[in-house]
Parts: sequence; C-alpha cells; structure tokens
Amino acid sequence: MCGIVGYLGPKAPKDIIISGLKQLEYRGYDSAGVAILHQGSLKRVRAQGKLTNLEKKLTEEKFDGHIGIGHTRWATHGVPSENNAHPHSVGGVSIVHNGIIENYMEIRERVLAEGGKIKSETDSELVAHLLSQEVRETGDLFEAALRVVPQLEGAYSVLSVWEEKPDQMVAFKNGPPLIIGLGKDEVIVASDIQAIVQYTKEVIYLDDHEIAYVEGSKCTVFDLKGNQLKKEIVHIDWNRESAEKQGYSHFMLKEIYEQPRAVAAALDPHVLRDPYRAELKDLTFGPQKTPARDVFNNIDRIYIVACGTSYYAGMTGEYFFEKLAHLPVECELASEFRY
Ligand code: GLU
Repeated sequence: MCGIVGYLGPKAPKDIIISGLKQLEYRGYDSAGVAILHQGSLKRVRAQGKLTNLEKKLTEEKFDGHIGIGHTRWATHGVPSENNAHPHSVGGVSIVHNGIIENYMEIRERVLAEGGKIKSETDSELVAHLLSQEVRETGDLFEAALRVVPQLEGAYSVLSVWEEKPDQMVAFKNGPPLIIGLGKDEVIVASDIQAIVQYTKEVIYLDDHEIAYVEGSKCTVFDLKGNQLKKEIVHIDWNRESAEKQGYSHFMLKEIYEQPRAVAAALDPHVLRDPYRAELKDLTFGPQKTPARDVFNNIDRIYIVACGTSYYAGMTGEYFFEKLAHLPVECELASEFRY
C-alpha cells in the first residue's frame, strides 16, 4: 500500500505533489508518477525506481494547470515498471490507486469485451476504464464514481481527476486511508497526514464506503447512494518535524525509539493515577460508537493479524494477552488470514 497525493489550488501542483510523495517514502515503493494539467490535458510522467528518477524526468517539464495527482506504487498486480506505474489514464480520466481490486479479472474481461484497450498489467487501470466509461455516459466525474464504486471488490483508495473538469477531484475508499486537507483556497488529498501537515491542519478523514467530491477549495462527502454526509473537520495537532526523521537514520529506527512515548501518550488519557487503574469512559469503537467497556467485556477470543515484523510483535502480544487478560489469542499472517 503506497502513497497518494493530489492537489487542487492556486499553486503549482508539481512541487507540492513531489514533496508530499517524499513525505510518504517511508512506506516503500518501486515506481512513481504524476498526472498534472497542462494546456487543458493531463500530462503524465512516470518512472521506475526512486522518486529522484521521476524528479529528473520532471525538471524539463512545464505544467500550467492547477490540478494534479501523484503516486508511489508498491506493485501487487504486474511487475514494477514505468508502464505499470500510476497514474493510469483512460479517455481524459486519470486515477491513482492504493490497494487491490479483487475482482479485477472479471472487470478486465468486461472491459476487453467492450473494446477497451488495456495498456498495463495492473488492477488499477481497470478503475480508470470504468470511470472513463461512466463519465462518457453521465458527463460528471462524481456521478461516474457513484456508479463505479459498487462494481469494485477489494481494498482500495482511489483519487481521480478528469481533464474536462479541471476544478474537480473525486476520491473514494474501502480500506486504505485517504485524508482530505482543507487549506486556504486549496485542497490536498493524501494517503497519509505527513503529506498534508505543512499546508494545513484542517482535515477530513474519509471513511470506507464514502465518496469525496472536491470542487475548488470545498470538499463534500457523500454515501454510496449519493446522500450528503455531515463530516467533521478535524484539527490536527501535528507539526512537520514530528513527521520527519528527526536525526534517526531511517523511519523504522525512529518508530522503535518512539514506541515507549507513543504508547504512554495513547494510554495516558485512560489511566487514573490515584488509585492506579484504567478508566475507559470516553473510548468507543466502531460506527455505532460502542463503549469500550461493552466491547472488552464481550471479547472471548483475539486474533492478531499481521505481517513481517508486526507478526513477530504480534506473537509477543499473544503471550501478554493470554497471561494478563486470560483470553485465547491467535496470531495469524495477514496473507493467510482470509483462508
Ligand atoms: N494494485 C495496484 C498495483 O499493483 C496498486 C498497488 C499500490 O497500492 O501501490 O498497481
């Protein structure tokens, strides 16, 4: 799952997108690309490997438009290559996608049967095909997204732009995060807060099964039936420094050293000092905002689902939970869990 950054506003999108993607580099990636408006069309530049390769290609490029999207890719469908790198563009619609479209084979066959020309090996390009088909019928990117989202299965976050409406972006998600930063006269959409904090602290967290429609500097969020939702604008209490490496040679090392402080900060609001005990009054879970006490009292088994290093950490967690909470715990590899 890699990085998404999109910009709509008065500034030149290129630098904002590239610097945003750099903030997301810690997530790892194999290629990168941008699609930015120039003379009425979305101009796409992509490169395999590090962002510096993309930057080199971009030095000579000129863009006069004020909208653009960018992506760092971690290949899941198709080899890491320039041709498979995002954005994917079909009929004036460009998209960037994090995650996996599970039913991509079925969509691929449908697109081919309808005469679509598929240029990459990715699942992501198919989303561009579907949006492009629907935009031709509806003449509207948001309406197109309303029709496309129910056709998608899997975990995804998608940001799309259409060159015929250069003051609009449409985003939707199911799984991987997508955050909409609301600046003064500008909107920055990104898959992680790091890419946004230097421009604005006012953000909307897009939830699963929601579609965000950005026009100019405004963002409206809808459910999948097209009903407008009331979304909270969250003020984030973060500065850029806390998002960067702060002298550590890499992000993982910084995260390791940060853990005692991060765990303490997360627990602090729920710990009473005198006498020492946990107090979970205001903590709730899930869309129904179920009180933590009810959730915890009803747990009879815990699965820890993780990969790589977090799997080993999960195995350690397994001992703690079993010993302290007297609950059966199973730590599973995420890639196997669904089976
Ligand atoms: N599944 C997509 C691909 O292989 C997106 C991967 C990602 O999240 O970067 O291109």
